[in-house]
Amino acid sequence: MNDNIIEIRHVSKSFGGQQVLFDISLTIQRGEFLTLLGPSGCGKTTLLRLLSGFEKPESGEIFIDGKNMAQVPANQRHVNTVFQSYALFPHMTVLENVAFGLRCQKIPTEEIIPRVMNILATVRLEKFADRKPESLSGGQQQRVAIARALVNRPLVLLLDEPMSALDYRLRKNMQIELKALQRKLGITFICVTHDQEEALAMSDRVAIMEHGEVMQVGTPREVYEEPSNITVAEFVGEANFLKTKILEASAESLHVEIEGKALRLTNRRHITQDQKVVTLVRPEDLKVWSINEVTNTEIITMYQATVEEVVYKGSTVDLIVRLNSGTKLLASEFFDEDDENLEYKIGETVWVEWYPGWEVVLPELPEELQE
Ligand code: ATP
Repeated sequence: MNDNIIEIRHVSKSFGGQQVLFDISLTIQRGEFLTLLGPSGCGKTTLLRLLSGFEKPESGEIFIDGKNMAQVPANQRHVNTVFQSYALFPHMTVLENVAFGLRCQKIPTEEIIPRVMNILATVRLEKFADRKPESLSGGQQQRVAIARALVNRPLVLLLDEPMSALDYRLRKNMQIELKALQRKLGITFICVTHDQEEALAMSDRVAIMEHGEVMQVGTPREVYEEPSNITVAEFVGEANFLKTKILEASAESLHVEIEGKALRLTNRRHITQDQKVVTLVRPEDLKVWSINEVTNTEIITMYQATVEEVVYKGSTVDLIVRLNSGTKLLASEFFDEDDENLEYKIGETVWVEWYPGWEVVLPELPEELQE
């Protein structure tokens, strides 16, 4: 048996002469939770619809469970979709909603009821079997929609923005629940979202899309800590970009000038001498020091800056600081009630340092730094 449940090979798609997917190749493993993450209009839903069979690729091939899907209609793909709106039948009870697909397949009633009750128990809704959708909360309605898809025992469950109708707290809980459910069932889940926090929290791997292309596929940690380019870095979490000039590049090392200070780094990304680069530092990788806390100002990753904004966020304090070179940075520090030095004032001069080795030198310039 092939470990890959889905293989997307060089798939492109256009609508009315406008290309929306460009040569997408992506492999998804059995039992994996993969999320398609990207801004609105980047083609996530279209890719999902190609998998479910609601759309046909213009070129390229899709294999599900080793079989080419070119001639296989949606209802024979063993793939089910949970839609954003849940699309529950309002006049039917929870039990009838979940049983609907099985009844259409003419499965005998004595088989349907235990199957439905079993799946309702899996999503903790067995006590709600006789209720109508309108009497359920948003989270419960979502679980009915998931149960209705799972009762068909799909090979792959597709979820299109499954959390978007839920409020923030419920969404957080449902993310954990959905991941736990997926792990328990061992079914492949492919989820579409534009919420990066949600993607990182739930997924085994995340595929980041932009303008109809897959930019990077990796574990949440890989895409956050080692983004392949600036677009990914900006889309997954908060990003600071430091102005960087290459002084010398060899296969192993980089001699660079970052915001006016020269330092040597390992050349982890095969950067070449003639490339334009920036250095990414995440807000939590920056440490802000009061002037009186720093005795050694020669530290190579230490810069003087001015505090422009202080935002208290409960567990963290976010500081917007401006380096003497003019570059604005966001620094996020864990709030420690006993640390008097976390009380920064707007206009205060501070030192900003990043932990050496935590920086990522990326090719290309972000828009705001381009001349
Ligand atoms: P969102 O997060 O807003 O749902 P998305 O990343 O899922 O966005 P898609 O819905 O896949 O993006 O749309 C990608 C592009 O294709 C958009 O420009 C959209 O207008 C276009 N598009 C999608 N479906 C059709 C269609 N049936 N006919 C014409 N254009 C379409």
